[in-house]
Amino acid sequence: MPTLLEASGTHISSQVLKFLNQPLKLLIGGKWVESASGQTFPVFNPATGQIITHAASGESEDINRAVQAARQAFESGPWSRLTVSERGKLIWKLADLLEANLEEFAELESMDNGKPISVARVADVPLAVDLFRYMAGWATKIEGNTIPISVPYTPGTQYFAYTVREPVGVVGQIIPWNFPLLMAAWKLGPALAAGCTIVLKPAEQTPLSAIRLGELICEAGFPDGVINIVTGYGESAGAPLAAHPDVDKIAFTGSTEVGRLIVKAATGNLKKVSLELGGKSPNVVFKDVDPEIAIKGAANSIFFNHGQCCAAGSRLYVEQDIFEQVVEGVAAEAKKIKIGPGLNPSTEMGPLVSDEQLNRVCGYIQSGFAEGAKALAGGQRIGEQGYFVEPTVLVDTKQTMKVVQEEIFGPVVTAMPFREVDELLPLANDSAYGLAAGIWTNDLSKAHRLASKLRAGTVWINCYNVFDAALPFGGYKQSGWGRDMGHNALELYTEVKAVCAKL
Ligand code: NAP
Ligand code: MG
Repeated sequence: MPTLLEASGTHISSQVLKFLNQPLKLLIGGKWVESASGQTFPVFNPATGQIITHAASGESEDINRAVQAARQAFESGPWSRLTVSERGKLIWKLADLLEANLEEFAELESMDNGKPISVARVADVPLAVDLFRYMAGWATKIEGNTIPISVPYTPGTQYFAYTVREPVGVVGQIIPWNFPLLMAAWKLGPALAAGCTIVLKPAEQTPLSAIRLGELICEAGFPDGVINIVTGYGESAGAPLAAHPDVDKIAFTGSTEVGRLIVKAATGNLKKVSLELGGKSPNVVFKDVDPEIAIKGAANSIFFNHGQCCAAGSRLYVEQDIFEQVVEGVAAEAKKIKIGPGLNPSTEMGPLVSDEQLNRVCGYIQSGFAEGAKALAGGQRIGEQGYFVEPTVLVDTKQTMKVVQEEIFGPVVTAMPFREVDELLPLANDSAYGLAAGIWTNDLSKAHRLASKLRAGTVWINCYNVFDAALPFGGYKQSGWGRDMGHNALELYTEVKAVCAKL
């Protein structure tokens, strides 16, 4: 219960206590309801491993009810009759409410996920607010075209042809735990702007901010059933949503492994699918750059959010002449990071999200050691309580090692030297993933030439982890299908209708 958290020495606000001291239910058709089975699941504080509270555990019956509510809201509810301007205003209002409750959301996110509250305050919550505002603006700008047509087999006949972009319908959205609120915003924003209705399934590890967001959704005045939130496990709530015959589209962010299951589940009614999956992103440092800038950038690229970032710069390639200086610098940065409970205001890195992730990350580090890698920093779990692991820099790695090939999803970077771009490029692209990449150099021609050859959905030059609501984000190769954010995201939630009239 909440008191256990206080025992860990961190302050909890009265708003958060009030939120936690109520049963956490499912939002279906505008009402907060228990799961059909009456089951709940525990929500853990990763800084202590203790249970914070329990949330309703949705299963296929709850998914059925939520999909039905979303269908009704889409077909006959007031949502479909709202003007696009009214739709945009509601999304904007949600952004305002979220901003007004920024502190509470930062606290919930930190407590549930483990991330430093100082980060949630400046990144997770403001980015979610900004995303909703950006998408609110798009609600009034989703346009079609008028199209001159010739139709050679009806000579002399005139036509008037145009396209309209219509909402794809009822959308299922399944999100991960690494940025729980922000991932909900990335998904909800464009779907709402397009006029879809939604069933959202948050990650079992981090349901809190989505449930609180559900309260704000009700307060903002969205019509019943437009946004339904079903917390629960992947196998019992996510899988029936992905397979549901009355869901028109499924949007998923998570692991590549589960992404494959989503694709299979979607085949029944051939629903549209978009996927934001894993990554193993190369971060390339050339010798002409100021090493201090590259060191700070490389450390941030992997250690931000404890490396639990799909875009993390987890493969560091440094030009031979400055390799030692840069990796030692990154190791020194790793050793300086203040690690503690996310709710402690001076914490710079919190615990990993779960014992499962802790075991996974420690298992990868051990596999690196077994294959001959050496740790310049880190390499161990910290303490016995909570899921803390040391920020780790591995050297003496080879391209074929598991730690270089597979996504670790923790604060672990592998570093390798290279001599020239021709040697570097095949190494950088040697991955099943293609989500992001970083380049550090003062030679802009070199940077843009390399950017054009990297098989990645985002390339950052002399910066890393720069996200913006207007910048499309998504993966090449096995990192996914489609793009979140930017106007590109609207394409995932609209169908194009061609209308042709004989004059
Ligand atoms: P995950 O295990 O794939 O889970 C993601 C979501 O899928 C969770 O809500 C999960 O529910 C649900 N799920 C699990 N099994 C399912 C099934 N059989 N059918 C339907 N849904 C199912 O991923 P994660 O460990 O939470 O997140 C880490 C991964 O997400 C990493 O690979 C990371 O790279 C990726 N990610 C990608 C992006 C991007 O934009 N490309 C952004 C963030 C994260 P439960 O949690 O309740 O089991
Ligand atoms: Mg949690």
